[in-house]
Amino acid sequence: MLLDAGAPLLPHMHRVGVEPSGIDVVFLTHFHGDHTLGLPPFVLHRIFVDKPRTLTFVGPDGVQERLESLFEVSWGIDWKPVMLPRFKARYVTARAKGQVAGYRYETVKLDHGTAGSNGYRLHVGSKILAYSGDTEPTAPLERLVDGADVAIVEATGPGDVFSHMSWEAAAALKKRHPKTRFVFNHLYSGTVAGAAKDLQVVEV
Ligand SMILES: [Zn+2]
Ligand SMILES: [Zn+2]
Repeated sequence: MLLDAGAPLLPHMHRVGVEPSGIDVVFLTHFHGDHTLGLPPFVLHRIFVDKPRTLTFVGPDGVQERLESLFEVSWGIDWKPVMLPRFKARYVTARAKGQVAGYRYETVKLDHGTAGSNGYRLHVGSKILAYSGDTEPTAPLERLVDGADVAIVEATGPGDVFSHMSWEAAAALKKRHPKTRFVFNHLYSGTVAGAAKDLQVVEV
């Protein structure tokens, strides 16, 4: 599974040894560009290089329209006649709970920007993986991470971070959920002692 799809997705997958053809499902939290603009090259690769295999997109309301318009902007007049007929895709609007591509999930609506963001609780074997995408540190985020084995949560920067979570709020969240292993991402500013490097593969 892929959790959001910022750019440059495809070269990074190759560099860390993740096979693009091995992805069955992409969970999208929201449609901001830093979470979706890796998809056009990934889809191109899927259509022309990988064997045809269905790719499922799970996302907020309008997921099909939003992604198809992104692909049409990306590939122009070639999208509909040349590429779309070869693209095996399925679009699923995330419900409160469901099952897709063999994964059970629950959706938690988080506070981010005007449209909000879908956080997901994903059942991977016997473990629960919580993934926030972008969010303010409000009550729904507590529900998202509560009881999760692993939580991948944004922590954008120090101090006042508009419509995101600060490092200070992230530290407090981690303290309130001591049994959960937190992986913080989406940092835009500075470095933190012990932070992962770009393209580092982390065993969880
Ligand atoms: Zn965002
Ligand atoms: Zn973002």
